Amino acid sequence: SAQSLSPLSTELRAAALAALERLGATVPEAAEDAGIAVHSPLSGERIATVRRDGAEETRAAVGQAAEAFTTWRSVPAPARGHVIKRFGELLAEHKADLAELVTIEAGKITSEALGEVQEMIDICDYALGLSRSISGRTVPSERPGHRLMETWHPLGVVGVISAFNFPVAVWSWNTAVALVCGDTVVWKPSEKTLLSAIGSAALLDRALVEAGYPSEISRLVLGELEAGEALVADERVALLSATGSERMGAAVAPVVAGRMGRYLLELGGNNAAVITPSADLDLTTRGVVFSAAGTAGQRCTTLRRLIVHSSIVDDVVARLVRAYEGLPIGDPRTDGTLVGPLVDAGSAERMARSLAEARADGGEVLVGGGEVTVDGAPEATYVAPAIVRMPAQTAVVRRETFAPVLYVMTYDELDEAIALHNDVPQGLSSSIFTLDAREAERFLSEAGSDCGIANVNIGTSGAEIGGAFGGEKSTGGGRESGSDAWKQYMRRATNTINYSTELPLAQGVNFG
Ligand code: NAD
Repeated sequence: SAQSLSPLSTELRAAALAALERLGATVPEAAEDAGIAVHSPLSGERIATVRRDGAEETRAAVGQAAEAFTTWRSVPAPARGHVIKRFGELLAEHKADLAELVTIEAGKITSEALGEVQEMIDICDYALGLSRSISGRTVPSERPGHRLMETWHPLGVVGVISAFNFPVAVWSWNTAVALVCGDTVVWKPSEKTLLSAIGSAALLDRALVEAGYPSEISRLVLGELEAGEALVADERVALLSATGSERMGAAVAPVVAGRMGRYLLELGGNNAAVITPSADLDLTTRGVVFSAAGTAGQRCTTLRRLIVHSSIVDDVVARLVRAYEGLPIGDPRTDGTLVGPLVDAGSAERMARSLAEARADGGEVLVGGGEVTVDGAPEATYVAPAIVRMPAQTAVVRRETFAPVLYVMTYDELDEAIALHNDVPQGLSSSIFTLDAREAERFLSEAGSDCGIANVNIGTSGAEIGGAFGGEKSTGGGRESGSDAWKQYMRRATNTINYSTELPLAQGVNFG
């Protein structure tokens, strides 16, 4: 009950509810024993309880979105773009409100939370342009008096499942593009970040309704596993776009494939950077610290492995340890804080287990790794980002621990570094720090990094929306956001039009 909340949780609850009110959202609060608990990692305590949607509510939402699709698909794409333009304006107007919710629920420092909302605004700009540029091609026909072309049509209902660590941006990447493509969307956000979802969905509702369209074009399902499974299994969901752990992807993919649906998977990463002898070490240190310790190590693109040339490893490690020792850890709302809390105690336990396993494998923890106590928040889980020197790429290094642990390994020949780099199940993001053009090009070539994202002299995290985002291997193979990612949200029809008076058959076939 509200009376038993700590002063910090009372303040967080009030701030969240006030932000939601400014966003025009109503919170479907439920009794503590009936709904889903909303915790804030800033206090580690429950600050609200919201309605729990199950399989039935999920199927009802899909039904509404399927019905809305029958009219939305025929609205001209530029008119659909105008709704997204308005959504982007509302996001800009309410940037601070939504960022505050992201901080309260996901624990991001204010600057990163604002950045997440900026990413939503950016994808709206992108989708607006897309609404006037989606296009097929016309190709030469082998037959006289014929035109051969392709047309892109809306696909249907897109189901979006998102993770706690990008509680609003991932949905908007999918939704802005899907809506412009003429699809309707059903969103099942992470059960850990429901208030952020309620706040951002309210803004899109407003944009739709203001423009005279039904809000059923975008549906929000507040559920856990049961709701997620119902969305995945529903045959009316033409595309299932799911972001989360490799475990979730492995559960979801066979179900969607079994009903011949389409899926777009954005799963875990185990991102590495190669640091070569020519690297600019000042720039490298800054790039590594942001990518490895930023967001408290809770980005899919977080830098988790360093592969450093043996001639410079001691220098690199000394610089990183110095930087880590000075990292301000604490309340993510405070100016100057760079590392906020882990999302919950389970994350801290998994981090501690991984560090123990690394030590058993011969690893040496050079800095960090312990829990940090923050005044007024005894239940919260803050940790000091860790750097671990590893003798080899053992099993613990090859899996994603969703916490700030950076493993350091060494190499002597670039081939060896690339082999080590690629020898993990995941294939999301990668970097090389070098001033040697041959090394950089080699890393970007077909014989280099096997990831969906490969960078030079910049860390593994912090992508822009203009490029396609996603990764290979157990990361799932999906691509979201920019480039031609929109094609996954549409279906292609090939059209042959005969404007002659003859009926020539392809390949010269004669029939009667
Ligand atoms: P998670 O896998 O625990 O949950 C993600 C979402 O999947 C949640 O909404 C959850 O309810 C749902 N879910 C889980 N099992 C399901 C099932 N069997 N059927 C249907 N839905 C199911 O992940 P998390 O802890 O919220 O997020 C962290 C993970 O997400 C990390 O592995 C991270 O790398 C990954 N991630 C990847 C990307 C990317 O773009 N590649 C982006 C962000 C996060």
